[in-house]
Amino acid sequence: MQKRRLSIIIILLAQIMSPYPGVAQTDWFQEPHNKYRLFYKNPDKNGRNQYEELVNEALVKVQQFFGSPMPRTFDVFVHPNRASLDQQWRRDWNMPDFKSECWMVASGIAAKLDLVSPRVWETEACEHHYEDKTKTAQLILHEIVHVYHGQNNPSPDFSEVEGIDWFVEGLATYASGQCDENRMLEVKKGLKSNGLPKSLDQFWQGSTKYGLSGSMVQFIDKEFGRARLAGLMKFRKKQEILDAMGVTEGQLIARWGAYMEK
Ligand SMILES: [Zn+2]
Repeated sequence: MQKRRLSIIIILLAQIMSPYPGVAQTDWFQEPHNKYRLFYKNPDKNGRNQYEELVNEALVKVQQFFGSPMPRTFDVFVHPNRASLDQQWRRDWNMPDFKSECWMVASGIAAKLDLVSPRVWETEACEHHYEDKTKTAQLILHEIVHVYHGQNNPSPDFSEVEGIDWFVEGLATYASGQCDENRMLEVKKGLKSNGLPKSLDQFWQGSTKYGLSGSMVQFIDKEFGRARLAGLMKFRKKQEILDAMGVTEGQLIARWGAYMEK
């Protein structure tokens, strides 16, 4: 009897002592996997196997892309609705009034991936359709690349990086296959009418920011090679990345421009 009571207390404690503020609630189910723990709530009980498959697939692909495994384990939170994700982001980012845009459905840092359940994308999100298998797989992979990047960066949640939004988002966009033909065409069109961006900061601005940043990382991959690209993940600042490639910001942008004209 005593033993049973003790084990009940231990289980309760384990649920209360969550590593994440705000996710101590006992209505999260938790499933351990090889490289991650999957957290979900009751409405996603039936869909969880499909989410697992998506994460497993993304893990294989991220490993293939970089040629080495995910360094550490991480958590995957499938939020039952947008309100739950917003609540989490407000806490994580210390922005009590934050309200996400409808196209925002997921985020990734070294420790975890947060996701609005694909089950509710049709009603609680825009631009994303769960049944579009290719795009859904790319979206999960994009976040897993952020997790991988965070685990290889001295600022695991990217809160201390400086001037490298273009690299963080470009890497996830390119490595997940989201730099598709349409995106590249849009970037080329923009280049023709607006000319070269003046700075790397401008790559992560405007409606073509994913394509701009992704194509820059694609250029780095083709020009400097996969090993050099992977080596850039350890840097926190823009200047460190430029120094590692031995180029100035202006040179990099000019060479990218010539590459895009090919
Ligand atoms: Zn991203």
